[in-house]
Amino acid sequence: MASLVWFRNDLRLHDHQPLDQALRRKQPMILLYCFDPRQFGQTAFGFPKTGAYRAQFLLESVADLRRSLQNLGSDLVVRVGLPEDIIPDLVKAHGVTAVYWHEEVTTEEVRVEQALEKQLASLGCKTKIYWGSTLYHPDNLPFKIARLPEVFTQFRQQVERQSPVDVALPPPTQLSPLPQIDPGPLPTLASLDLDSPTPSDRAVLTFKGGATAGLKRLHHYVWDADCLKSYKQTRNGMVGANYSSKLSAWLALGCLSPRQIYATVRQYEVDRVCNDSTYWLIFELLWRDYFRFICAKHGDSVFYPSGLRGLPIEWKQDWARFDRWRNGTTGFPLVDANMRELAQSGFMSNRGRQNVASFLTKNLGLDWRMGAEWFESLLIDYDVCSNYGNWNYSAGVGNDARGFRYFNMLKQSKDYDPDGLYVKRWLPELQGIPAAKVHIPWQLQPVEQKRFKVTIGVDYPHPVVDLHQSILANEKIYTAATELR
Ligand SMILES: Cc1cc2nc3c(=O)[nH]c(=O)nc-3n(C[C@H](O)[C@H](O)[C@H](O)COP(=O)(O)OP(=O)(O)OC[C@H]3O[C@@H](n4cnc5c(N)ncnc54)[C@H](O)[C@@H]3O)c2cc1C
Repeated sequence: MASLVWFRNDLRLHDHQPLDQALRRKQPMILLYCFDPRQFGQTAFGFPKTGAYRAQFLLESVADLRRSLQNLGSDLVVRVGLPEDIIPDLVKAHGVTAVYWHEEVTTEEVRVEQALEKQLASLGCKTKIYWGSTLYHPDNLPFKIARLPEVFTQFRQQVERQSPVDVALPPPTQLSPLPQIDPGPLPTLASLDLDSPTPSDRAVLTFKGGATAGLKRLHHYVWDADCLKSYKQTRNGMVGANYSSKLSAWLALGCLSPRQIYATVRQYEVDRVCNDSTYWLIFELLWRDYFRFICAKHGDSVFYPSGLRGLPIEWKQDWARFDRWRNGTTGFPLVDANMRELAQSGFMSNRGRQNVASFLTKNLGLDWRMGAEWFESLLIDYDVCSNYGNWNYSAGVGNDARGFRYFNMLKQSKDYDPDGLYVKRWLPELQGIPAAKVHIPWQLQPVEQKRFKVTIGVDYPHPVVDLHQSILANEKIYTAATELR
């Protein structure tokens, strides 16, 4: 008799309820991770579903989990294949009586769970399924997920007033060895049909996958660099390792539990300082919770072109324009610098994401799903709920979208990159242009172009659209869609 713990987006030992519960049965345990080939296929628009940056981070995270399990006396069984085939085979071969895992909420993941549950039921094997990805446990919410408020602020206020945060579970201190089973090798990027990524040395951080590196980053940001006390003032930055926590990639793969971060923040508040910045990091984690609960409530609609709101907008799928967006050649430095940062590092700041998403949908009028899938492919912190939820929001098709809102690229550039440091970092061709003009290169006179050593149309492109006219045109389309509804 044995139990099996199936690791998914929960690649950690701390705060892991399935592992904690399985351990209580005091019987041999198989600890498993499956590389599901469906996650390494293509997105609907033909991008690698898990691009090289994300795949590398995942491989590092699984390797780290394996090392941690080995240190405790066990090991991680690694397989490449469909969980709904692999797990029943292991159940049959090793007399497994119960399988433990953390549940997911979105279509692809839920389908896998359902197929697996069916197989296990036919084998008479029990399933023990837990919720483990959010700060607040659904059982502690003041409402059922089906009655979740549609507006974030209402959700946040009710939760903050009425819901406790559960204490993070401690990691196990010892494990018994695996039953007789070949742990199997880890795949490589090459075996997953991916090339090794070479992140630019301009990247904000070297992201290393795994709970060990995630906990180290948390400790560094909060305690060593002492950045938490000023997070609210710095969080909209775009240059450097510490303007924001950079914890998202570890959260996305569950290398860090949000409750672990919460406990660290609370400790910092006791030991050092409690202010609006310490609160704000928790506030941001609530956005993460909110998008997960909203996806759980609304099912598939977060993936529809009409989004959670069901707005029948006629999105364009103009590949020439999309290529200029994804390659960072729109002629708008703020957009281009951010898109090149993403392509060359697998990361982009929140400020950047909001701007490029607004530009794609409100200036270019392109199908927001093209952008969302591009992010899915590239972002090392890709999280299905946060990504699709935020894209819904940016495209104006989110559940609490408030009319045609857009980011004014020029104002954003001045407010968040007044000295042009960020755009010059990623667009070296604009290096010679003074700060006052670097965000509007298309206005440079020929004599200035000569002086600043840049030829617009040669070294750097002309703008792909007129900022003002494109907003007016797309607002018309948006308004027409709201009238159809
Ligand atoms: C179009 C778009 C797509 C996005 N896609 C993703 C994604 O795939 N994965 C992802 O984790 N975040 C996504 N975000 C949210 C946000 O941009 C990132 O979480 C943040 O930039 C990560 O950097 P950080 O860890 O330094 O954030 P910090 O500012 O330090 O925030 C701390 C944590 O709070 C959470 N958080 C902060 N802002 C948001 C938000 N708007 N929505 C949800 N959670 C938030 C994250 O877990 C983050 O790690 C997206 C935002 C936009 C506008």
